[in-house]
Amino acid sequence: MKISIFRREFYEVTPMGNEAEKPNIITSSLDFLVNWGRSNSLWPFPYGTACCAIEFMSTEVGRYDLSRIGSEYVRFTPRQSDVLLVAGTITYKQAPILKRIYEQMAEPRWVIAMGACASSGGFYDCYCTVPGIDHIIPVDVYIGGCPPRPEAFFDAMFDLQKKVKDESYMKQRAESIKEQLEMIKAKTAEAKREAAATVHEKVVDVKDFMKEKEQNLVKKAQFWKE
Ligand code: SF4
Repeated sequence: MKISIFRREFYEVTPMGNEAEKPNIITSSLDFLVNWGRSNSLWPFPYGTACCAIEFMSTEVGRYDLSRIGSEYVRFTPRQSDVLLVAGTITYKQAPILKRIYEQMAEPRWVIAMGACASSGGFYDCYCTVPGIDHIIPVDVYIGGCPPRPEAFFDAMFDLQKKVKDESYMKQRAESIKEQLEMIKAKTAEAKREAAATVHEKVVDVKDFMKEKEQNLVKKAQFWKE
């Protein structure tokens, strides 16, 4: 349930001015609150390598006003960013750097491929250009154009906001816990297998040792008999 709707209803049933100022109750789901916070504070990390990055600079000016959607904080460290904005041509030489930056970003993280070059390699049909960054990292939103206009960037951000709002924090947590449990199970099974193999080796060693001892004693007994 949306807070704004709920609040309006609350004020409607309590028309007295003072009543609305008293502490009241808001009900919602955790998913709604988390997604509301996340979708309205998507801070981009601009990975700009070519002309699309210049176009992104114009998106940042007051005329377009990125702070309307809470994305005016452009961060130049992956540890403080939510959205990796790849604007420009990516070469194979840069691919490992881009991947490392993506991996340095804390989860949840999203990726926007801005422009033809980042989305598909653009007109660079050559040995050195990556034909789309989705060959290296997962992409959430693609923006067409060479270069895309600021309006197209906003459109992509709105799409990303919709996507973020559809995600389920609780479901993600449950999946993450499930993954961790499966990993623990797999590791325990591997450790058990290793322990069983080690014990088996030791038992075989002891058996061999006893057999050798027995043979030596038999030999000695025969020698003394003779
Ligand atoms: S898509 Fe066009 S504008 Fe953007 S980096 Fe490639 S060549 Fe430049």
